[in-house]
This record gives sequence, structure tokens and C-alpha cells, in this order.
Amino acid sequence: MAKKQFKAESKKLMDLMINSIYTNKEIFLRELISNASDAIDKLYYNSLTDDKISVNKKDFKIEIKIDEDKKTLTISDNGIGMNKDDLENNLGTIAKSGSLAFKEENEHKKDIDIIGQFGVGFYSAFMVADKIEVITKAYGEKEAYSWISSGIDGYEIKEASKDSYGTDIILSIKESTEEYDYSEFLHDHKIESLVKKYSDYITYPIMMNVSKRELKKGSDSEYEEKTSLETINDMVPLWKRNKSKIKESDYNTFYSDKFFDYEAPLHVIHSKAEGLVSYNSLLFIPSHPAYDFYTKSYEKGLQLYSNGVLIMEKCGELLPDYYNFVKGVVDSEDLSLNISREMLQQDRTLKTIAKSIETKITKELTDMLRDNREKYESFFNTFGANIKFGIYDQFGINKDKLKDLLLFTSSKTKKLITLREYIENNKTCKGIYYCCGENVDKVDNLPIVENYKDKDIEVLYCTDYVDEFVLQTLMSYEDKKFTNIAASESDLSTDEEKEQLNKHNESAKEMFDLMKESIPGVNEVRFTNKLKKHPVCLSSKGNVTIEMEKVINAMPTDEEINAEKILEINENHKIVKKLENLYKKDKEELKNYSKILYAQARLIEGLPIDNPTEITNLICEELSK
Ligand code: ADP
Repeated sequence: MAKKQFKAESKKLMDLMINSIYTNKEIFLRELISNASDAIDKLYYNSLTDDKISVNKKDFKIEIKIDEDKKTLTISDNGIGMNKDDLENNLGTIAKSGSLAFKEENEHKKDIDIIGQFGVGFYSAFMVADKIEVITKAYGEKEAYSWISSGIDGYEIKEASKDSYGTDIILSIKESTEEYDYSEFLHDHKIESLVKKYSDYITYPIMMNVSKRELKKGSDSEYEEKTSLETINDMVPLWKRNKSKIKESDYNTFYSDKFFDYEAPLHVIHSKAEGLVSYNSLLFIPSHPAYDFYTKSYEKGLQLYSNGVLIMEKCGELLPDYYNFVKGVVDSEDLSLNISREMLQQDRTLKTIAKSIETKITKELTDMLRDNREKYESFFNTFGANIKFGIYDQFGINKDKLKDLLLFTSSKTKKLITLREYIENNKTCKGIYYCCGENVDKVDNLPIVENYKDKDIEVLYCTDYVDEFVLQTLMSYEDKKFTNIAASESDLSTDEEKEQLNKHNESAKEMFDLMKESIPGVNEVRFTNKLKKHPVCLSSKGNVTIEMEKVINAMPTDEEINAEKILEINENHKIVKKLENLYKKDKEELKNYSKILYAQARLIEGLPIDNPTEITNLICEELSK
């Protein structure tokens, strides 16, 4: 019989397969097992509506056989099978995917799910086999047929003999080359691990002869190789099991096996969504960042299953960037088993799932913050930077969703508090006061903070370099403006006090002008009533604050920015008298004093001093007087 030609589009696809578009050749097994599982689904489904079909659900199985001598790998099922026309139509062309047609015909019947809606699955076997033989017998028919193809140049269909209904797919595995060791597909342990990896949760048993080394009977040192027929898949995935029957240790084992973490997860989110899109998900918040979390090679994503079959190891589209630390599994029967990443990215179903997952994670974190503060703080200490990033990323479009997940250290308790707690603690305050610095101790010792402590006003200590960007993105919380107490415009004084200070400043204007001459880094010198004990502090005007100057200038770019700085002198400090005296009697000395005071203010702020030799000499000179 003459060879039949494949349809043009099948040829194209096959050509792609033979020359392997998949970097993972191994996924052919997943595809064939999915087809087998589909075929059983179909027969089972038909049996529910057709009295003439009598099958027992318990008998359904998929069997894998390895013949090392013949170099074949066989995948058999006792599903619906194919008649001659089916073979012709289903395996001769990809234009008509049998699964898809079946699904369309039965669209109104909800209780059936067919995995493979995308018609390239079968051909993926050509990535590892140079010849494929399909022996199949449709349920209820007498004749069996074989379909044989060695690739592009066509296929042959012949009568064959087969005892019972179902399909055997016999792959003649390619000879190994320098680039690829195909022989691994003839090793039972390799096949077993692939089944575990990709098809563990197929709902029918996948059976295979598995070899094991066992102690010989009566001997305590001699081993023998024994093979036994075993079911190698789990059949019901953890995420599809009833939550109430799952122990914490089950989750932990699953997590550590799947995501290779030595530490148990901080939090498990197991949920089932039904509605527009149905899916099961099992998500984990790790206790610590992954070892490569801060490297470029770290990739966010969740494992994506279509009805129990792994279709993507890491589906990044399922997580927003700021939740990139989340690990887990999503399984939906509403997704087609689809190999193309590009197509998946545009998939509406996937987008709906992603939205719902994002909402779910946010809700879980909100609940955790309310119900288990200690756990939440541990989360925030580990991944708080992600929440902050989520707020200022993309010009703040997600800020309202995330702002209540923020924590800052309170000046009063030195403990972490939320913005809502701040508002509740400080009902009479006009704004939300914050102050930035390297760590809590350093901020706590800043002169500028004293005044607020004195007046019993709570200040949020921002010790993360992104904090200021976060608060600038938020701008306000419940109508209260975020106010940097180190910025010049922040002021707690009464109108009367302000007026008095203005007068004092006005009267010293010429002295300040002279002082400025010796400290060109400063835009303004003035008196302040904000300080208690300390003689001086630095504040800033405009959008760039001193903390930002530090952060941006520490980045490895050539960009350098300078905050507009104001040297503020405590009007109640005894140094003021001294300065006023010098202005009258010794203008040169006043300049030296200015330099020292400015250097002092920079030191307190944690800014570097450009001319340390000059400053130390000046100090020594003054000390020696
Ligand atoms: P898909 O499964 O995505 O439709 P495939 O190329 O994998 O595409 O398979 C084409 C068709 O061949 C299937 O739709 C199905 O009708 C048929 N088929 C494949 N494998 C089997 C099998 N083991 N038993 C019965 N039919 C099968």
C-alpha cells in the first residue's frame, strides 16, 4: 500500500517537532499520557449516556512498557480507541483536533473535561522517536488498525490484531547523538521521574514495571534486581484534596519537595475558586527569600496545570511583580493544554486567574496582619520591601491596594505600626510625621526629632532607602499629608512663635549672608525654634530631600543630585550669642565657626565632609585658644 501524505500543515508542524521547537524533549511523554487520559475520559463519558457501553471505572489504566532490546517505549490505554477513519482524520492532520471536536459537540454537557485542546500533542513524539506505530481498536468494533510513520514522508494504515479496545503508541526511540542522549527514555527510573514530574495527577493509574534492588532471600549482602508492576502516579493532587483532611506536614512536605526549600513555608494559601473561571490553587509564602531572590536570574511564577497536567513550570503572568516571592501551583480546567508561551500571555482566562490570585494574596496578608501580628511582622521583615516596591511601581497604580500592608517603626514604642494605627494614635495631628535615616537608633538621635518627642507627637521612622519614595507616591493617607520633619516647611510652632522667629531671622539677615559665604554648600542659614539641646541641624527645601540625595548618590551611576540645604541654628542655644558677638568683632572667626557648625550638621545627618583636614584643623585651633 502506498504511503499517504500528511496534510501540509501537519508536515510543517512535524518538521518543527523533528527539529525540536521544544527545548524540553521530555514533554512528549506528558502529551501522550494526556492523550491516553483523554481517550479514557471519552469512553467513560460515552458509557454514561450509552447503555451499550459497559465499562468499569476501576479497570481504566494507562500502561508504560520499555523494551530495551528493541529500543521501544510503549504507552497503552484502554480508552475509546480509533477506527480507520479516526486514525486518518486524527493522526493524518492537525487541522482537525479530535479532542477539540469532541469538546465542541459536547459543550453543553459540563461534567467532562478534556485536556488536550491543542492539536500538536501527538507529533511531539517525533522529537524522541524516529518511528511511531499506533495500534488501536475502537470500542465496540472488531477490527484493529495500525498506523505507522517515520516522519515527514508520510504514514501507512494497515489492519492489525489487538485483543481489546484501546490504543498502544509504540515509539522507536532515536539513536543517541553527541548532542542528546535519547537512551534515557528507555530507563524505567527516568520515565518514572517524568511521570511524577508532569503527569503525577492524571486521575487514572499509570502503571509500569519498575526495577528495584532487593536483598536476596536468605542473604544479608547479596542483592538482586526485581521488577514489579506499580502505579507510579499519585492520581489526586494535594491542591484538589479536601483542605480539612490535609495536615500541616503534608503541605510542608509538598512545598519542600516541589520548591526545594529546607525551611517550612511561613504561610499556606489553599483555595478553590469557582465562578467566571474555576481553578484550584495552592500558594506558599516562603519563610525566607530564595537563595537567588536578589539576583537577576530569579524568575517569578507559579506552576500551571491544566486539569492535573503540568503545562508550565513557571508561569510569570500569574503573579504581579511585587508578589514575586510567592511559590505555588495553579490548576484550572478552563485552560487549554497549550504549548505556546506567546499565546498563553494573551489568554483571557489566565488574566482572570492572575487577578483573582493577586486579590487572594492581598486578602490573606491583610488577615494575617489583623489576626497574627507576629507572623505578619516576620513576613514584613522579610518581604516588606516588595510591598513598598508595589506601591511606587508603575506610578503608584496599586498603592491603594497595598498601603494598609505597610509597617513603620514608631518613635514612641520603637515597634512597627500601620498607617491606620498612626492615625488612630494621633487623632489631633494635622499630618503624618516621618523622619528618615539609616537605622532606628540614628533617627531617634537626630536633633530634629527631639521637638516632636517633647510635644508627644509620634513620628514614623523610615529606615529603608525606598521609604521616602513610597511616602511621596502615597502623598497622603486618609486626608493626612505625609510630612518629613526634616524638611524646612514642617513646623509645629504657633503663629505667635512663628512671628517672633521671623523677626529674629530678619534682624540677623546680614550675619547669615556673611556665614553663607564660607559654606557654599548651603542655600540658606537661619534660626530655628525646632531644636532643644542641639545647636544645629540641616533641613532641605524642595522635592529632593537629604535622604534622597544620599540614596541617589550612593547608586552606581554618574548621576549626582544635591538637596537644597538649610543650616538651621537653634535660636535658644548659647552659640547664638557667640555668633552675634563674632559678627560684630571678628568676621573671620565667624566664618570659621560657620564651617565647623555646618560640618557638625552634616555629620549628624550622616553626610560626608568634603574638607575633613580643614575642619579638624579648625576645631583644634579653636580648642587651643
Ligand atoms: P489533541 O490531543 O490536542 O487533540 P493530538 O495530536 O495529541 O492532539 O491528537 C490528535 C487526536 O488523535 C486526538 O484529538 C485524538 O482524537 C486522537 N488520539 C491521540 N491519541 C489517542 C489515544 N491514545 N486514543 C484515542 N485517540 C487518540
